[in-house]
Amino acid sequence: MHIVVCVKAVPSTTEVKMDPKTNTIVRDGRQAVVNPFDATGLEIALHIKDECAAAGDPCRVTVLSMGIPDTERLLRDCIARGADDGLLLSDRAFAGADTLATTYALSRGIACMDEPADLVVCGKMAVDGDTAQIGPELAGALDVPCVVDVQRLHGIVGSTLALERATDAGRELVEVDLPAVITVAKDAAQLRMPSIAGVLAAEGVPIAVKTAADVDADPARTGLSGSPTQVVRSFVPERASEAVCVTGDAAEQAAALVELIEEACR
Ligand code: FAD
Repeated sequence: MHIVVCVKAVPSTTEVKMDPKTNTIVRDGRQAVVNPFDATGLEIALHIKDECAAAGDPCRVTVLSMGIPDTERLLRDCIARGADDGLLLSDRAFAGADTLATTYALSRGIACMDEPADLVVCGKMAVDGDTAQIGPELAGALDVPCVVDVQRLHGIVGSTLALERATDAGRELVEVDLPAVITVAKDAAQLRMPSIAGVLAAEGVPIAVKTAADVDADPARTGLSGSPTQVVRSFVPERASEAVCVTGDAAEQAAALVELIEEACR
């Protein structure tokens, strides 16, 4: 079993800095952390690895990220917690990617791994970009089924995963045959702490850093130039609100409210 966990480096602060020229997020690595949803995804992968180990089956967990060179630090932390190896896609050619170009780069990274991925685990969403598109897009790119918003892992029997996912109508139990992509909710699990032995061992694990050319990525499909969607302008909305107290009986309040709305619409 080979599980690939997609890990995105996100700012640890809500004060996201934007590049005014390209309208893309400034990623200087400072205070970057593992996207909290991906930390959950890693724990779910490690849990499957534990179950495989108990059954005497081999299982390898690879952490994959597209990001700046400093992201290597975060991948190494994932290895200290139990992942086996890491692949970092890092190249100026990847910069400014929208979700489609990000998916393409990640799918090229997966395609170039020495072992095919049986399961790809993504967070349900990244706390900065927030689109929740990468997991389903990746399933499309790999042509495998996708289960989104996984709340709980029930177990694995052979090559079938039993999962609980959230839907608008409630919870649903799903069985999916591997290979597949799943996206996980933040509260589905709590990432384990690294052990001292894990931290020391992780220091010696080489993390592969690959460029767009290394993974045979088509330059027309990567980065800002390969992104069909582009941010025209980004800004922090101004908060301008004033409270008006509407008094009287219900009919008077309704009439006053209508007047206020009509006035606002003029
Ligand atoms: P999501 O789909 O929310 O992430 C889901 C999961 O995918 C993550 O939990 C993680 O497991 C995986 N994942 C995501 N990114 C990576 C990565 N780099 N490496 C490894 N795993 C990853 N995109 C558009 O398509 N159009 C836009 O107009 C657009 N505008 C944006 C505006 C702002 C201000 C920002 C911050 C981002 C915008 N993005 C836009 C998204 C942006 O380009 C993304 O950061 C990137 O494409 C991933 O999308 P996401 O963050 O929404 O990921």
